[in-house]
Amino acid sequence: MNTLHISKFHTEDLTLRACAVITTDLVKQVQQIHQSFPIATIAMGRLLTGALLMASGLAEKQQICIRVQGDGPLGEISTDATFESEARVYCNNPQLDLPLTNGKLPIGKAIGKGMLTITRFHEFHKHPQVSLVEIQTGEIAEDLSYYYQQSQQIPCIVALSVSVNNQGEVQAAGGVILELMPGAPSTLINTLETKAQTSRHLSELILNGATPRELVQEYSNTTKLKENLHPHEVKYHCPCSINRVDRTLKLLGKASLAEMILKGELCEIKCHFCGKAYSVSPESLRKLHDELITY
Ligand SMILES: [Zn+2]
Repeated sequence: MNTLHISKFHTEDLTLRACAVITTDLVKQVQQIHQSFPIATIAMGRLLTGALLMASGLAEKQQICIRVQGDGPLGEISTDATFESEARVYCNNPQLDLPLTNGKLPIGKAIGKGMLTITRFHEFHKHPQVSLVEIQTGEIAEDLSYYYQQSQQIPCIVALSVSVNNQGEVQAAGGVILELMPGAPSTLINTLETKAQTSRHLSELILNGATPRELVQEYSNTTKLKENLHPHEVKYHCPCSINRVDRTLKLLGKASLAEMILKGELCEIKCHFCGKAYSVSPESLRKLHDELITY
């Protein structure tokens, strides 16, 4: 299998910046890990693709975490993506099934109304940078685009797409983000807005084998783009470990740990991002319990 990298583009005068990626194989992996039905596969695939593209615009060792907390039946969806193109995603209800609305899967309805939280972390900064915006449509791309416009004050286009066949298998997935930089002529802004509304559906383009460059050209209406590959390979990666599990258990506090020890059972914990199972013996629980200081 070929390695996958995000493609980055800019015009010579730097007034337009874009990035694009085809994530079909990655979203297939998401579907497998979560055994998800189409609505969750599409929502998670769009969010993961969007987060990877956004993270590629950060600096080394920086990470972005996006949480979509709507009141719809899909529950919360959460994703983490690093500048190094490692990402993971989960949602509360991966096997949600809803009837079609106007022939389409109702992603926005499944997510519902609520908030989108975008947190940027840097390993050397103590305090993460948190932005909160209201969910606009729940279709993810519009919500991320709204975030850009609200918090970064940049006109931009975010297009994200996952198409799934009748058997629930992922056929195509990918995304594009175009940002206008200061100094961009207003005619370019208008062109972009019209293009965003009239562009052929992203899924259709990806299904037809479009490259990231062709996707960006479709939305920007320009062929004069310089292209660079982001240096890191895109990967589904979950940094969970037994040490993290131990830390989480300790957060429960002495009383809860004592209760678990008394039951004398093996404590089974499953990572909801990657499905890896961890079992913690009563002896290990006791050790964690004894490490905690009593105040
Ligand atoms: Zn994990």
